[in-house]
Parts: sequence; C-alpha cells; structure tokens
Amino acid sequence: MVSRVIPVDPFDLVIFGGTGDLARRKILPGLFRRFLAGQMPEDATIIGAARSEMDDDGYRIMVQEAIVEFGGEDAARKAELDGFLQCVRYVSIDAKGEGGWKELAALVNQSRITAFYFSVAPSLFGDLAERLHHHGIADTQSRIVVEKPFGRDLVSARELNAVLAQHFNETQIYRIDHYLGKETVQNLMAVRFGNILFEPLWNSQYVDHIQITVAETVGVGGRGEYYNRSGAMRDMVQNHLMQLLCLIAMEPPSRFDPDAVRDEKLKVIRALEPVDSHEIVRGQYEKTPTEPGFREDAGDPRSRTESFIALKCHISNWRWAGTPFYLRTGKKLRVRTSEIAVVFKDAPHMIFGQEEGRHRNILSIRLQPNEGMTLGVTIKEPGPGGMRLIDVPLDMSFADALGDDVDEAPDAYERLIMDVIRGNQTLFMRGDEVEAAWAWTDPIIEGWETRNEVPKPYDVGSNGPEDAAMLMHRDGRRWREIRE
Ligand code: NAP
Repeated sequence: MVSRVIPVDPFDLVIFGGTGDLARRKILPGLFRRFLAGQMPEDATIIGAARSEMDDDGYRIMVQEAIVEFGGEDAARKAELDGFLQCVRYVSIDAKGEGGWKELAALVNQSRITAFYFSVAPSLFGDLAERLHHHGIADTQSRIVVEKPFGRDLVSARELNAVLAQHFNETQIYRIDHYLGKETVQNLMAVRFGNILFEPLWNSQYVDHIQITVAETVGVGGRGEYYNRSGAMRDMVQNHLMQLLCLIAMEPPSRFDPDAVRDEKLKVIRALEPVDSHEIVRGQYEKTPTEPGFREDAGDPRSRTESFIALKCHISNWRWAGTPFYLRTGKKLRVRTSEIAVVFKDAPHMIFGQEEGRHRNILSIRLQPNEGMTLGVTIKEPGPGGMRLIDVPLDMSFADALGDDVDEAPDAYERLIMDVIRGNQTLFMRGDEVEAAWAWTDPIIEGWETRNEVPKPYDVGSNGPEDAAMLMHRDGRRWREIRE
C-alpha cells in the first residue's frame, strides 16, 4: 500500500525551549521524520530559541546529536539529515528579558505560516506571549503550541488561559495532548463513525462497562520532583485518560471539524458524575532490595503522592446511564501497555446451554505497543464433540493490515505538529475542555488532601495495589490482564 504524503505549506516554526528535553527527544526527531517523508517543505525554517549562547552551527550540532540519539534508524540518512539541518537556525533569547527578540523578529518571515512552540515551563507562557506581540513577531494568523501541564487545578488553568487570551484567540492556541495524535485514537473515531456496525451497540443497553488502562514500566526517573508535586491524577488522568474517555463516550459530532468534535468532548466531561472516595484507589510503588521506591525517586521520604490510580466513574446522560467506566494508570507496573476495552453485555439468551457470562464480545483498542484493534467473538470450537464455544479475536493489527505504511505513519508528536501547520485544531484541547477536566478532578484531589490520605503501597512490577482489583471484584468484574 502506498501512503499519500501531502506537503504542508512553507512555514517558520520557533521552538522556545529548543535545547530542552522535549525538543531533543520528540519535536526535532519528529520534524526530521516529516522532512524524510516529504511532508516538510525544504524552505521551511525551524528556529530553536533558548537562553544558552550558541550560533546556528552550534545548534545544528545539537540537533544532529539529538536525532542520532532519539531518531532511530532514520538518523543514518546522512544526506537527508544535512538537508534538514539547513532548515535549522538558532536565537539566544530570554523569555523574561529583552535580549534576542530583535534577532528573532528579523528571522521570522511573517508572509508565511508562523508557529511558536512553547516547550518551556508554563510560568513562561505569559512572558513569551507578551514579547511576541510587543516585538511584532506574532500576528492574528500565528499559532502557538503549549504543552502539558496546563495548570495544576482549575484556578491555575483559568489563569493560564487568561494569560494566553490576552494576546491570542482560541483559534490560534494548540494545547497538545500527544495521546490524541496516536494513529489508533484517530482510528477509534473512524471505526465508530465510519461504520454502521458499532454505533447502534455503543450505549448502556449493550455495553457492560469500559476499561481504560495506561500502564507504564518506568518510574518517575529524573522527573521525581515535578511528579511529587503532580501525581498520577494530575499528570495522567486529568488529561490523557480523560481525553480517551471523551473520544470513546462522546456523541457523534455533526462533522469532523475542530469545534464540532470538541463540543461533544466537552459535553462528556461536563456529564461526569463526582467520584465517591471509595471508588478510587491511589497507589505508590515501594522500594525493593534492588530498586528505589517512589519516595526515593521523588527525594521525599514522606511523600503522599500517588504513582497509581484506579477509579470508577459514571457519565450521566442517556447513552451511558448505568455503564461504569473504569480507569487505571500507574508507573513501575508489570508491563507497558495502553488499551481501551469496550466490554459488551452477554447475549440475552444462550441457546447452547449454561454458557452465560462466559463469552463476551470485547472490543480492544490498543494504543501501545502494537497499535491495533481486536474484536473478541464467540465461535464453535472446531471439530467433533458437540457445540463447544470458544472466544477468538478478530484481529486487526495495523502492522499486519497496512504493512509498511504503519512504519511510515507519523508518530503522535510529528502528526500534531503538522496539524498545527495545517491549522487543524481537531486533535487539540480547547480551553474550556481543560477547565472542565480540572473542575472534575479538583474535588477528588482536595478530598485526599483534606483526609491526609496515604496511597496504598504496591510492588514494583505488579499490577498495582490489591485494592484496585477489589474495585472491580465487588462489581462482579475484573480488569483485563495487562500484557504487552
Ligand atoms: P527542559 O528540558 O527543562 O527544557 C526547558 C527549556 O526551556 C530549555 O531549552 C531551556 O533552555 C529553556 N528555558 C528555560 N528558561 C528559559 C527562559 N527564561 N527563556 C528562554 N528559554 C528558557 O524541559 P522539557 O522537558 O523540554 O519540557 C518543556 C515543557 O514541556 C515543560 O512545560 C514540560 O512540563 C513539558 N513536557 C515535557 C515532556 C518531556 O517529555 N520532556 C513531556 C510533556 C510535557 P535554556 O536553559 O538554555 O534557556
């Protein structure tokens, strides 16, 4: 199968924080992949901007090293890499000072698409927005890209939105959640809204429950201090898991356009019921003789921050009344996997004997690794011996079905950056969505703080605390086994 790559129009992209971890690990290698795919025009300009003093050539060396380290096999394509590096420039700039802004103004070509990636701490967003305007570098057509964390509660998210709104319209602001850039997540929408098969069953009459799991094997690594102030609820649930929940639960939008989609997602968040404290399990990984625990990683021996969350929530609307959504995410778990599972109800009457409850259709949407979807169906076990039923997967691994196209498909970051250049906000969070998500999570976090709640310990390499399993067991359900 031959993929069609449509080049974007020429653009100037300024990466504030162009020397930082995110730029080196994701943004720059991602842009190089789009360059290789022929999607990035050769006269595009990528301008790194940070306080460190260096010239264009110094920055090109840094970019090259980043691509060699994080760009996989692509980095070996020396001739193309040299071509890509010709698009790269650097300006030494202080978001809080005046140095470097005139130089940046001279570099940015406003007759083209201009985008500004704020890959810096959110405390600098206001300074950057103000100076971009003060120096006439951004105009009403420019786009800005901002990263999580978008606030740490409703108040701070509102403040950030207000700061950005002073200089940019909502149509110019691209709040990135890289989960939305994943191929499978978009395929979830294609499967739901492009087929007649699923939508009639997509409601509480036919769906028993939905599980969303994002399990990581890594700990908090070098981000211990940040994570200790954040925790799994703020770092994962409020944004990534909530966005997945929205896409799975939303009503069909009238069109696949940014506001139609985001209006429907917002309605889901606003329909989420408050969560009862006994329907949430918080966990924290414990040290082993060979590995540090969360408290060691965070450098805080008394930390009460959670590295694991499992919760049950309900959406109060006609479609989902009575269907629970179970969400779980954690660090240092047994395997790394992200999956959404739609567990359908039993067939209303079993004609084959006492098989009720044993066979269920489950639509599994795997985000990582091995992106793909599987629909579990019940069939007769082949061979003689009567009518014995077994469950088999109708498997659609994208790698099998689409061959090389999957390898060449852009990863989440590069797809989203190209969407910014194209001016397509569909896969980005709108300000009111972010605020609504905080309005739902804030009371949960405040409850823990008021009760001084201590997270339940769990073993590194486990499935999380025992209580998480109980959350399901007491409803007569169980988590799907997490496997790679
Ligand atoms: P980082 O490694 O600490 O990099 C920060 C960047 O900002 C550096 O390039 C730094 O360069 C620049 N900077 C700092 N102060 C500045 C100032 N006053 N003026 C201009 N530039 C300044 O951080 P990061 O990990 O790349 O993260 C960047 C943002 O993305 C953060 O908001 C983070 O929460 C978010 N994020 C990161 C990841 C990730 O995987 N890393 C994932 C999701 C979200 P100089 O010191 O040279 O100025």
